[in-house]
Amino acid sequence: MALLNIEGLSVVYGGAIDAVSDVSLKVEEGALVALLGSNGAGKSTILKAISGILEFESGAITSGDVQFEGQSVVSIRAHQRARSGVMHVREGRHVFASMTVEDNLKAAGFAVGKRHPVPGKKDIERIYDFFPRLGERQGGLAGFLSGGEQQMLAIGRAMISRPKLMLVDEASLGLAPMIAEDIFTILAQINRETGLSILVVEQNVNLSLKHAEYAYILENGRIVLEGTPDGIGGREAISALYLGGS
Ligand code: ATP
Repeated sequence: MALLNIEGLSVVYGGAIDAVSDVSLKVEEGALVALLGSNGAGKSTILKAISGILEFESGAITSGDVQFEGQSVVSIRAHQRARSGVMHVREGRHVFASMTVEDNLKAAGFAVGKRHPVPGKKDIERIYDFFPRLGERQGGLAGFLSGGEQQMLAIGRAMISRPKLMLVDEASLGLAPMIAEDIFTILAQINRETGLSILVVEQNVNLSLKHAEYAYILENGRIVLEGTPDGIGGREAISALYLGGS
């Protein structure tokens, strides 16, 4: 049984716009999977359907199912999904700018409630082990961090409650190539060393296929190709596919 199993998912916004149509995808336990596609393909919508925040954006599932650990979660509220181990790192590096790095991490523990109410020293140190840069900046305000550091903090916040599945939306967006590479390298390390299952949404094909073991390509709300990076023809083939053959 896959940790996450999506079957025939269709989503509309505002009762009219079809954002995702008949999408099926899986994330096996311990896997690092990439969901690729150009702007507006429907990638973020799929993540929102998994974490349960679609309803805050006038989105609705019109057919299909999202199963986490074998149970359908479509009627379960977002905060309960978070408690059961699904954490969503949304696009845009959501951190509390006027709080220190460390307080951002502590507050993240409160946010998921009972699962891990107050993160202890060890929980925080564990995040600094993966992101030494955050450790160096622990007393500084999050608002003064660079874009890459804020992205690291957003990922650290999601990890503090020790989720089972982490959804990462556009981690590399707007970052210098070297910083984006660093973040992916750390995500792959976290996946390898902790067994945390990760589903990343990306426009950056090269980075994703370098680190993911399986990828889905989304176009106009539909999966048009899936497989291992080698099986789907490698990075050049995918870039060509969704950059319109260029
Ligand atoms: P991006 O990289 O730009 O976020 P994406 O692949 O994640 O792209 P989505 O954000 O999932 O794409 O959007 C899929 C489609 O749904 C697009 O046509 C988009 O305009 C539409 N859409 C997304 N969010 C909303 C919303 N809150 N209300 C109405 N339409 C929306």
